[in-house]
Amino acid sequence: MKKLITNLLALLGLATACSQQGYENADVNGFAAQIADPDVVLLDVRTAKEFEEGHLKKALNIDVKQSGFTEKAKSVLPADKTIAVYCRSGKRSALAAGALTKEGYKVVNLKGGIIAWKEAGMPVVTESPIEDDVYEVDSFTTKNGKTVKFHALVHASIRIEYDGKEIQIDPVTKLGEKTIDLAAMPKADYLFITHEHHDHFDTTAINLLTGDNTQLITNQRCAEMLGYGTVMANGDMLQLADDITLEAVPAYNTTEGRQQFHPKGRDNGFILTLDGLRIYIAGDTEDIPEMAEIKDIDVAFMPCNQPYTMTPEQLVNAAMIVKPKVLFPYHYGQTDVSSIPSQLGNDGVEVRIRHYE
Ligand code: ZN
Ligand code: ZN
Repeated sequence: MKKLITNLLALLGLATACSQQGYENADVNGFAAQIADPDVVLLDVRTAKEFEEGHLKKALNIDVKQSGFTEKAKSVLPADKTIAVYCRSGKRSALAAGALTKEGYKVVNLKGGIIAWKEAGMPVVTESPIEDDVYEVDSFTTKNGKTVKFHALVHASIRIEYDGKEIQIDPVTKLGEKTIDLAAMPKADYLFITHEHHDHFDTTAINLLTGDNTQLITNQRCAEMLGYGTVMANGDMLQLADDITLEAVPAYNTTEGRQQFHPKGRDNGFILTLDGLRIYIAGDTEDIPEMAEIKDIDVAFMPCNQPYTMTPEQLVNAAMIVKPKVLFPYHYGQTDVSSIPSQLGNDGVEVRIRHYE
């Protein structure tokens, strides 16, 4: 009887400890079993630097010691999924687990952290699991021999790698049936957002790509919606580094009955110059007269879908005005762009069709 009471008390004690804490502590095996479930979201709460040095495969990274952890986590983590958290030794993840539990999440915490995980011989990954063959990549060389890589993520979302810098333009986590695994990509040094529409402005994507050194540049409206960001208006120019400049250019509708989609003066296109390589990201626009001022473009991204941007005929016209060396039709959705390369072949514009539906 005494033993039974002791056991009961022990059980009660356990139950109390559990409800005070509110989340589950798991050892390496228990944790591994939980994260094998694809519905469980894995979260690394160490610093971005620690994360880069080695982390569990498919983990998201939100630094628990940074201000705004809870807000950021809530914007990224689905409320209905179990969150599996870990850190180096289990201390910071316990903090995170407590905070997330308070927000209503079901949480499991890895006891002993990644130290215990590695001691048990479990795998960690260092490099980004996004290989060059997941998204189509085009490489260009700048005047000083540096490489610029364009990753065709989706629609109007472009990831640019340049000289160790990560640049993301209009990133989204999901569009139609396609999901983009931004969590697996490095944090952005620069985030450029052209305008507020959902296929360009996605706060979850922005949060996933924002690290300690991310600079976000956008228009007035998006900066107001976010509560932060460097604002550029049409015509503004920013020197971001010795070899990186950004110019905001107009992007708007001209066709009657469509001007409300992208009114003149509200949204931006961008001209990004990387060590002399001039890149025109047109944004959501039609073939506007200001394009005649856009010169010496090496690489252009121009949209092609109705009723929001250009018809294929307008795109061809715009390309003949700007005359980029290489044109990527983007933001084209269901529009048939297959005839565009032959239409521009004689004008010295090389057209490359990538998966920017
Ligand atoms: Zn738009
Ligand atoms: Zn759009």
